[in-house]
Amino acid sequence: MAAVRLDKVRKVYPNGHVALKEASFDIADGELLVLVGPSGCGKTTLLRMIAGLESISGGTMTIGDRVVNDVPPKDRDIAMVFQNYALYPHMTVRENLGFGLRLRGSPKEEIDRRVADASSMLGLDERLEHRPAALSGGQRQRVALGRALVRDPAVFLLDEPLSNLDAKLRLSTRVEIARIHRRLGATMVYVTHDQIEAMTLGQRIVVLNGGVIQQLDTPMNLYNKPANLFVAGFLGSPAMNLFHGTLRRADGLRLEMKEGSFALGADSPLLAAHLDKPVIVGVRPEDLLTVADHPGIAERLHAHVDVVEPVGNEVFLNMRHGDDELVARVPPHTAIQPGNDVALGFQAERLHFFDPESTARID
Ligand code: ATP
Repeated sequence: MAAVRLDKVRKVYPNGHVALKEASFDIADGELLVLVGPSGCGKTTLLRMIAGLESISGGTMTIGDRVVNDVPPKDRDIAMVFQNYALYPHMTVRENLGFGLRLRGSPKEEIDRRVADASSMLGLDERLEHRPAALSGGQRQRVALGRALVRDPAVFLLDEPLSNLDAKLRLSTRVEIARIHRRLGATMVYVTHDQIEAMTLGQRIVVLNGGVIQQLDTPMNLYNKPANLFVAGFLGSPAMNLFHGTLRRADGLRLEMKEGSFALGADSPLLAAHLDKPVIVGVRPEDLLTVADHPGIAERLHAHVDVVEPVGNEVFLNMRHGDDELVARVPPHTAIQPGNDVALGFQAERLHFFDPESTARID
């Protein structure tokens, strides 16, 4: 296994498009790091640069203790699993799994041993003599994973490996990948545009947008302390509620909006520095509490309920507050109906503040 280090790594495509501005970070030996971001943010480019499938326009890439900028993919000791896994249709699962090792000229006993290990780890023992056409989509994706596993590489690179699977299989294969990672203690870099996959799998997550790293942190830190508005909006579903207004001091800090104002209950020297300036206040849907369900909470604002969406274990209240749309996640037994006016509150420490100009977090 090996650590990966990026030092000011850049990617400019020949047409002048800057796909990665300048990335510097380390992936620890044995870490599962997720690259997440919207379509076109540069995550596949970055993964392909680690693989050696894309040239590096600037900076230094290190795998283990070797600078790999000019090392071809086959000499990087990496294995890549793609979204569109191509299995050889005329070969059995056993032959597909062992193919890479056979090409490399590994001894038959070693191939047999590694194929048996991977197959038992992935639950493919019963399928070893089947051809891909006789497998389900999930089983095929497991064979694709198995082909990477048998090579026992220093680093696994996975590019949206679950996106061709249906929702249920995606979930079970995701758990499978987490389990494999724990068992092997392998260094893995995993690309996805799916925030749930990122949050559940990543030990740390790199959030990318427009070729720029927005934040690199643990899932919980990203969720609880998003570094800017992009990260705040990207992670969390339904998305964080945002109130645009001006910070005023009148009996404590208040947010003054086009229509009305409310007491924030929060204060800090950093916030005070933004007094009488525009700020954006964020509250996650689970932190926007109805006074009806939380009798102890101070009443801070009122909203009109438009749509009530039960999702089983909770209910999403879609509300209007002036021009703003708000969402709150409330317990499933709520009595609140569309058309109701509700009083809302929040714990001051659950608020997020952002500078509208720089979009950076203020705290
Ligand atoms: P997706 O989730 O859609 O796969 P991504 O985040 O993986 O997106 P990349 O495929 O890395 O994004 O592409 C990053 C940017 O670079 C995009 O704007 C894309 O159009 C551009 N790009 C990708 N490959 C090339 C290329 N060969 N030449 C020029 N531009 C490219």
